[in-house]
Amino acid sequence: MKDCIFCQIIAGDIPAAKVYEDDQVLAFLDITQVTPGHTLVVPKVHARNLIEMSPEASSSLFASVPRVARKIMNATDAIGMNIVNNNEEIAGQTVFHTHVHLLPRFGEDDEFGMQFTAHEPDFPAMNELAARIAATDE
Ligand code: 5GP
Ligand code: ZN
Repeated sequence: MKDCIFCQIIAGDIPAAKVYEDDQVLAFLDITQVTPGHTLVVPKVHARNLIEMSPEASSSLFASVPRVARKIMNATDAIGMNIVNNNEEIAGQTVFHTHVHLLPRFGEDDEFGMQFTAHEPDFPAMNELAARIAATDE
């Protein structure tokens, strides 16, 4: 896609610090380096985000994620990793070409911050919601 920054990186029109490449995916360092080694894994075929991808395309994308993750873990002093994918603006997506963030973690005071708010479980409501999702088309 002509106006897509990640398609331009894949085409070689914009430079990137590449860490892995195969027929289906490219992985390169995120320009912001939230933690050192912060990497994006992207499919070579443009897709707006993960939710729009086919089982085949998403499978080939995710097949490479553990491989790239191991390379980053082995090349850095990371002791863990957050693997994150944002879909649509409300979820923090700013580049509309599917990408998986690999964020190596080095300690509690590293720069990555993500917190979940836990609620008291309402099991009847959860069962009802799960049944509704299960009965809904993709
Ligand atoms: P999002 O917010 O959509 O989940 O993540 C998009 C990411 O792409 C951001 O973390 C941002 O730093 C990164 N990014 C945006 N433009 C470029 C670029 O030109 N080169 C690289 N390497 N990363 C980019
Ligand atoms: Zn693209």
